[in-house]
Amino acid sequence: MIYRALGKTGLEVSVVGFGASPLGDEFGAADAEEATRAVHHAVDQGINFFDVSPYYGRTLAETRLGQALEGHRDKVILATKAGRYDADPETGFDFSAERITQSVEESLTRLKTDTIDLFQAHDIEFGHKVQIINETLPAMRKLKQSGKIRFVGITGYPLEILKEVAEAVGVDAILSYCRFNVLDRSMDDVLTPFVQKRGIGLINASPLHMRVLTEKGPPEWHPAPKRVVQAARAATRYCRDRGVDIAELAMQFALMHEVVATTLVGTSKVRHVERNVKMVDDAPDPELLAGVLEIIKPVANICWRSGRRENDDPDAVPKQS
Ligand code: NAD
Repeated sequence: MIYRALGKTGLEVSVVGFGASPLGDEFGAADAEEATRAVHHAVDQGINFFDVSPYYGRTLAETRLGQALEGHRDKVILATKAGRYDADPETGFDFSAERITQSVEESLTRLKTDTIDLFQAHDIEFGHKVQIINETLPAMRKLKQSGKIRFVGITGYPLEILKEVAEAVGVDAILSYCRFNVLDRSMDDVLTPFVQKRGIGLINASPLHMRVLTEKGPPEWHPAPKRVVQAARAATRYCRDRGVDIAELAMQFALMHEVVATTLVGTSKVRHVERNVKMVDDAPDPELLAGVLEIIKPVANICWRSGRRENDDPDAVPKQS
């Protein structure tokens, strides 16, 4: 395993991180025992960064991860989130100081720990920017002073709001998802130069574009426009015809990024952990990658709408287009 500094936090995180949303059955029902084995295998393989949220499986993922990490807590850097609790864009979010402060207590209990290493405001594009800046992040800072959390982060899909909020208040880490992988590299247009200048830790989540870049293909709820999924299916076949699983190429591609501290890939399966860790030592085959990039060229960097209209990136498109 290779480790990198997470911004200026002093934390050294594994370049492959463990995304625990599948532990909350977000990609279909997980086998709880297999998920526990996957967590243990990840720890054995040197993965030390684990990311979860109360939102994943509406607390199920935190509960399962907390149980799996019993006896291993000292070997891992634990990240969770607050502010997102349900899928409904109107009722599923609460970024108030009161809820954030209560949320950390609930997460500490479920995760069976005394401290959260990285506490992140979850999907800030669904909140009001003014509240995130003036209320949510100050509440998180207080939690940092009290020792309940060690570092503060923000997460989301649109890139501009992540940058604007971090510019206004300062954060230790930013988690961006589906914005740097074989299908979309727009993270580099907005966030990468910004975090480099500020010394903020950069976490790149969803290198498989939330399962679009796998043989199985996307879950039914996936927000990507149809033409993006269709191009990815064509690229998957192109890889298969050449004896390669597109998930491996996608992991290799994401891991080439030199500014990203950790690439968060989600799984609840031992075999995925094994394969993803192996990709740390492998560069993508240049010819195969060029072929894939050519296939997806017409849909490259197409992003979808997420959150409040006023927080969205200007070029986002509706799901069905
Ligand atoms: P992902 O791109 O990592 O894809 C995960 C899916 O791919 C799962 O269904 C998993 O079973 C499958 N998979 C994993 N490795 C595989 C392999 N080698 N071969 C075939 N299939 C494989 O998407 P993700 O899980 O959404 O993202 C990773 C993590 O990042 C999440 O679990 C979460 O912790 C974090 N995340 C955070 C946010 C946010 O804060 N807003 C958003 C997205 C993701």
